[in-house]
Amino acid sequence: MAAGAATRREPGPGPGGEKRILCVGLVCLDIISVVEAYPAEDSDISFIVADFRHRGVDMTHVAWQPRGDVPCACCVVSAANGSRTIVLYDTNLPDVTAHDFELVDFSQYKWIHWEARNAAEQAAMMRRVERYNRDQPAAERVRTSVEVEKPREELLPLLGLAHVVFISKDVARHFGYQSAPEALQGLHSRIQPGATLICAWAEEGADAIGPSGELVHSDAFPPETLVDTLGAGDTFNAAVIFALSAGRTLQDALTFGCQIAGRKCGIQGFDGIV
Ligand code: ADP
Repeated sequence: MAAGAATRREPGPGPGGEKRILCVGLVCLDIISVVEAYPAEDSDISFIVADFRHRGVDMTHVAWQPRGDVPCACCVVSAANGSRTIVLYDTNLPDVTAHDFELVDFSQYKWIHWEARNAAEQAAMMRRVERYNRDQPAAERVRTSVEVEKPREELLPLLGLAHVVFISKDVARHFGYQSAPEALQGLHSRIQPGATLICAWAEEGADAIGPSGELVHSDAFPPETLVDTLGAGDTFNAAVIFALSAGRTLQDALTFGCQIAGRKCGIQGFDGIV
């Protein structure tokens, strides 16, 4: 049995009654071999469930799948500079569907983030959020974001559907751009009016175009020693969403994202980031 992340049952609001952030994507087990260290290994969904529990991620919304296995990636991290090589064993685990997503009560959430995968289904989910927002006062609207990491043509329509869009270096390069500002200028016409487009670029930091077309940049915050860059992009996305959802400016959010991602690059894994 394995899991895709979406709402199944509705939990109450978070501690203190505040609205939450919902993430829609797929879990993957990373087996990380640090060169010169013994490979840590586990192959069971229970490992991921225990990790989520340990980190306080609410799992009551997970769409448990009766068939398919947990996707698994073997990651070799270089002890010399923290760079990584990933061998992904992709499995037949079904993605979260628009039907699964029908169970989500949007009033519980201030933000929903998608990791671009099954684009047609995800587009239907995003449109449902837009329809919901149309009937809500501004303060009750759910903000949406999507990360398009893989340069696959079928994912590109999602660029035009979210309020905040993250694109990767790979996507930028796929379009022939050699830097984040170049990619932002070139791809800006693909996002909806008033949306924000963000592109992180490793040691170059990150750039963004905000709702009124303003260009924003943050330098990277490199750690004293590069230990492990695996997950730096996800750390950056999470920190930016956290900051924007708390009402911080785009410049603050970008800087905060680079600070937290930089700190992550200086440690093994994620424990001790904060
Ligand atoms: P990924 O390849 O994991 O998607 P990115 O290259 O998109 O990661 O980088 C995300 C963020 O992580 C960057 O904006 C930067 O702030 C930080 N980062 C990544 N690699 C480095 C590095 N080598 N030195 C400093 N910061 C880094």
